[in-house]
Amino acid sequence: MNRRHFLRAIAVAAACPACAAVARAEEHHAGWSYEGASGPGRWGALAKESAVCSTGTRQSPLDIVDPVKAVQPAMQLDYRSAPTEIVNNGHTIQVNMAPGSTLAVGAHSYDLLQFHFHRPSEHLIAGKSFPMEVHFVHRSKAGTLGVVGVLLTEGAANPAFSAVIQMMPAKPGIVKAGVAAIDPKVLLPAGRGYYHYAGSLTTPPCSEDVDWHLLTDTMSVAAADITAFAGLYPHNARPAQKDFQRFVLVS
Ligand SMILES: [Zn+2]
Repeated sequence: MNRRHFLRAIAVAAACPACAAVARAEEHHAGWSYEGASGPGRWGALAKESAVCSTGTRQSPLDIVDPVKAVQPAMQLDYRSAPTEIVNNGHTIQVNMAPGSTLAVGAHSYDLLQFHFHRPSEHLIAGKSFPMEVHFVHRSKAGTLGVVGVLLTEGAANPAFSAVIQMMPAKPGIVKAGVAAIDPKVLLPAGRGYYHYAGSLTTPPCSEDVDWHLLTDTMSVAAADITAFAGLYPHNARPAQKDFQRFVLVS
């Protein structure tokens, strides 16, 4: 937090204690964007802790071309309907989760922290972009991250995504509680085949401690809901990064 943001956070908290969460959301996400002088090509230069955005060798997302077929451990996603709040953080719409939803894959187990959306998709499949992508962000007890991505296509409405669209705060920095109607399970396709590779956060600080699982099955969402999301975030996707000879496995 720089001094200006710190002082603003203090001032906001004093004037309106309930706004403190809003100030935190703003301060956490200040300073970078998806275009221009603070866009993806400059993320590594914006802050010392984000240098790996430029210098890293296992950055995400990727254009997945020629993945290696492999027998991979089954992915067990056990999501409870326990969202706590929906946040417009200035870069996306994010739904924060109460503890109790888990991802288990091989020897690894994680708790679901939050899920959020990108438009268009961040991952490409053999050069092909998709209308949107949802990221389910999980953390292990050891602190490593496991993200499950689902590519979203245009078609039949998805009740969970429609609920997100109906409840999403229009203005950045707003946190809205009382979002129990959003059920993350509904955004998961039936198939559990997945692409797997070692990557990073796709936003600053681009930390390279993320085990990526991108489901091979897609989910459809309503065109009208995509349009509504685009009204807030027309483009919030980092471009595909160099693979540096990383293997992507697929089951
Ligand atoms: Zn994401």
